[in-house]
Amino acid sequence: MYTCGPTVYDFVHIGNFRTFIFEDLLRRSLKFLGFKVIQVMNLTDVEDKIIKASREKGVTIFEYTEPFIQAFFEDASNLNIEPAEYYPRATEHIPQMIELIEELFQKGFAYSQGDSIYFDISKFPKYGRLSRIKPGSRAFSRLDADEYEKQEVGDFVLWKGKKEGEPFWESPFGPGRPGWHIECSAMSMHYLGPTFDIHTGGIDNMFPHHENEIAQSEAATGQTFVRFWMHSQHLLVNGERMAKSKGNFYTLRDLQRMNYSFKAIRFLLLSTHYRNPLNFTFEALKQAEKSVERLLDFYHRLKEYQGKEKEEAEEVLRSIREIREEFVEALADDLNISGAISAVFSLMHEINPMMVEGTLKREGAILALKTIEEFDQVLGILEKKGELEDWVQNLIKQREEARKRKDFATADRIRAELLERGIVLEDTAQGTRWRKKTLGD
Ligand code: AMP
Ligand code: ZN
Repeated sequence: MYTCGPTVYDFVHIGNFRTFIFEDLLRRSLKFLGFKVIQVMNLTDVEDKIIKASREKGVTIFEYTEPFIQAFFEDASNLNIEPAEYYPRATEHIPQMIELIEELFQKGFAYSQGDSIYFDISKFPKYGRLSRIKPGSRAFSRLDADEYEKQEVGDFVLWKGKKEGEPFWESPFGPGRPGWHIECSAMSMHYLGPTFDIHTGGIDNMFPHHENEIAQSEAATGQTFVRFWMHSQHLLVNGERMAKSKGNFYTLRDLQRMNYSFKAIRFLLLSTHYRNPLNFTFEALKQAEKSVERLLDFYHRLKEYQGKEKEEAEEVLRSIREIREEFVEALADDLNISGAISAVFSLMHEINPMMVEGTLKREGAILALKTIEEFDQVLGILEKKGELEDWVQNLIKQREEARKRKDFATADRIRAELLERGIVLEDTAQGTRWRKKTLGD
């Protein structure tokens, strides 16, 4: 599975995260249903806006993008998005892109004009099959005329000739840098082969980006590029797409500062079917906080529940199994998330009263707990893998850094803070270890 990743010229906004969370749901659902997943998500780390911003700051594009790449990983981890298997960076795959452009040249799909190389879409009759936007149509004529002079509207740049003051790479077609579309063709096929199963992205990527990817890849290889395309609809604000350029966006960090929880943000972005637009409001986010709280409360009480009797009534067990079946069927039906979430709430409504009345038996509680933990393998709302571990390790690292610069006040404060949360640190010759507090501490 190939996923168009972020352009790392700034913090990623929650509109982007709607798409990344849809892709995470897809990934987790496929795994849950028994498929093996290899996911590639690219990082676009050379691009017009990056070049402009790095020049203004007086740093290299690498110095400019690195903090945003790290911030992206941090945000994704906070949203409990499972890491992809590969995160190729465009700047590290220039040779693969050059090779693909050469192939297109040899086969007559590319032409040079000025210092740049373009793809000739008139040579690829299937152009427009994915988006159903054909050359000559109205959407087509709205294609932005970028600064690169191609021969026909719709032809797109494969290699951008070097401009003064811009970063560049040497190539058989002269110094320059790759166009955006060739990146994704080259990197996806490099990691996944000429034909692979699933390609995803937000709906705005369908045309022209994905249409161009198909044209480049299939023209070069003569084979089917992708078996299934899946696109998520946008996150909107007042009916308009959330976008950097419109200024109507929130980053995860903005919402964090306003004290919204990551779990609620994830739940909100997850809970609308990916092919429907989702309008962002704070009302809806507050509602999501409440839903998550109820689920967490249920989950924790179930974990601690001590049933007096062991054996559960057959009808209770059957009902839990039926709810599990509903959940699985909903997911398998084009990721019907509303159906899946309603199964989760059914489980809660079924089991909650029995816990309150004390009629739930141990066997029933164990099955219900196992079921909700299975649901959470897909939803990723209740528990984050290694959440405590990450958090503690991070503080240990900060404490070590503080000690190195002889800031013992900070080091002690971190130790005290951890102790307050039930974590005891032990400094050993091999470094600092941690364990949970016991009665003797
Ligand atoms: P970009 O960094 O602009 O290349 O976008 C990264 C991903 O986010 C792409 O898959 C886009 O389609 C997607 N995306 C951008 N804006 C939104 C939005 N408002 N809602 C959902 N997805 C979006
Ligand atoms: Zn892409």
